[in-house]
Order: sequence, then structure tokens, then C-alpha cells
Amino acid sequence: MEINNIMVIGAGTMGNGIAHIFAQNGFNVTLADVDNARIDAGMATIGGNLDRQVKKETITVADRDATLGRISRATDLKSAAPGADLIVEAATENFGLKAEIFRAIDEAATERTILASNTSSISITQIGAVTRRPEKVIGMHFFNPVPVMKLVEIIRGYATSDETYALVRGLSERLGKTPVEVRDYPGFISNRILMPMINEAIYCVMESVASIEDIDTVMKLGMAHPMGPLTLADFIGLDVCLAIMEVLHKGLGDDKYRPCPLLRNMVAAGHLGRKSKRGFFDYSAK
Ligand code: NAD
Repeated sequence: MEINNIMVIGAGTMGNGIAHIFAQNGFNVTLADVDNARIDAGMATIGGNLDRQVKKETITVADRDATLGRISRATDLKSAAPGADLIVEAATENFGLKAEIFRAIDEAATERTILASNTSSISITQIGAVTRRPEKVIGMHFFNPVPVMKLVEIIRGYATSDETYALVRGLSERLGKTPVEVRDYPGFISNRILMPMINEAIYCVMESVASIEDIDTVMKLGMAHPMGPLTLADFIGLDVCLAIMEVLHKGLGDDKYRPCPLLRNMVAAGHLGRKSKRGFFDYSAK
């Protein structure tokens, strides 16, 4: 099946990055969000990131202009969906919202259109089950920042067909990414391994095993991680870390995934990391 037209739903952190890489690789992209202001913000980010690529001489001014020229916008999902061969949903992480979006696009898109979600933690099988085409529903989990990070976890829901998987794998390669095949279990691979490590680092803080700085230093210098787990937790957002630990705990039913009480306290206090200027580290001066 020929894929030329991509619709990306959500123009936020991930959606604008996904639109950027598809457009840069020659696909026609429609970037959709709830209002024009959000699309403006997403387009401004794409423009800024392309300008940076021009400055670094990895693309030309003509490449930048052609990339921007391939992106159109939409605020009405139902009228934009029929033109898409592939729809990649990157809206807010909430099952009810995603279910509503998938029901709407399933109704509006052509029968052959593939529906992908960039969810970090919601079951692709459950998302597929709200549509009439679960064999054409798949997870396409990109990493932030999308134009830079090479990995895509491709999550096969219980009903995802081999054909859908092969097509999305091939597309990911055309984007210059390295796809990894993952079965649909809570946290996929990335968060199932990363989040318990971050959670354990937070237990080390709670139990005063070592200072915050020293815990990060051990993982950076001892394990060659580019960033310590507590710095990374602040970067991701402690509320997001807690939500993913809850998904692992509930979905796998094992107490080894219980969220650290200190993580719960920090989220309840609004110390969410970089976005609230305070988490394990203080960002108020930056
Ligand atoms: P974000 O908050 O930056 O952007 C979400 C966007 O979705 C917003 O612009 C919002 O207006 C839009 N939206 C909400 N409801 C909509 C609707 N009905 N129709 C169209 N647009 C709608 O969020 P994000 O960080 O880009 O995350 C998006 C998805 O990507 C989530 O599922 C998240 O779990 C996943 N994800 C995030 C990261 C990350 O590092 N931020 C990494 C991998 C995956």
C-alpha cells in the first residue's frame, strides 16, 4: 500500500516533532489540534527546529521551505481524516480522550487507513478495540525530541495484523529511525525498564542511601548513562513518572512496581521537575 498523506493529531511536544520528520522525508502532512493557536505554536517549534538544522548545515534553506510547504493544518478531525493514508495520534495521554479520537477517525477515514498512536503507556489493544479495524491499529512510540532520537517502538496490539506491522516498520525506516517490535504489555520495553530504575533511585533518596547528586553520579560514571535518573525524572516530569508507575503496578499486578511514596508526595506538593521549576533539583534560576 502506498503511503503519501499523513495526518498527525496533536501539535504539542511529540506531534510537532512527528509532523516535522514526516514532512522532511517527503510526505504530505496535515497537523491537527483543537484550535489554531496550538497549531501555530507547533508550527513555530517546527520552524525553529528547521532553522537550527539550516544553521548546522544539515539541511538547506530550500529543504526547510519545502518541508514547511508540505504541512497543512486542520482543526476538524472528521473532515481531515478521509485524505489520510496513515493517522498518527499524539494527543494528550488520556484513555477517554484517545478512545473518542479513535472512534471519530475510524468513522471518517477510508477503510484502508492505518491508525497509529504515540501513547507511552495506554494499551494499543484497548485503543484498537474501540474501532472497527483493530487489525489496522498500531503503536508508533517515538521519543523526545523526535527529530533527534533514532528509536521507534512499534507496538503490536493483540489484533494488529502482520501487514500493518510490516508497513509501519518500513515507514519508520524511511524516516531514518530504528524500529523495534514490541508486544502490547504495560510500559512496552522502554518504560518497563526505565521507570522502575527511576523509581528505585527515588527510594534511595527516601531512605537516605546517598545524596541526590551522588545517586545521579553513580549512574552517570558507573553505568555510562548520559543523565542521572533523578535529573531524567525532573526532565520527564514527576507526574508523568508516577502515572507510568501506576500503569505498570496495576497492569502487571506485582508490588515490585509500587510507586515510591516520596514520588507521590512530591507530585502532591506540585514539585513536578523542570516544568514546575522544582523537583529533585531547583530550576528557578534558569
Ligand atoms: P502535549 O501536551 O505537548 O500535546 C498534546 C496535544 O494534544 C496538545 O496540543 C492538545 O491540544 C492536543 N489535543 C488534545 N485533545 C485533542 C483532540 N481531541 N484533538 C486534537 N488534538 C488534541 O503532549 P505530548 O508530550 O506531545 O504527548 C502526546 C502523546 O505522546 C501522549 O500520548 C504521550 O504519552 C506521548 N509521548 C510523550 C512523550 C514525551 O516525552 N512528551 C514521549 C513519548 C510519547
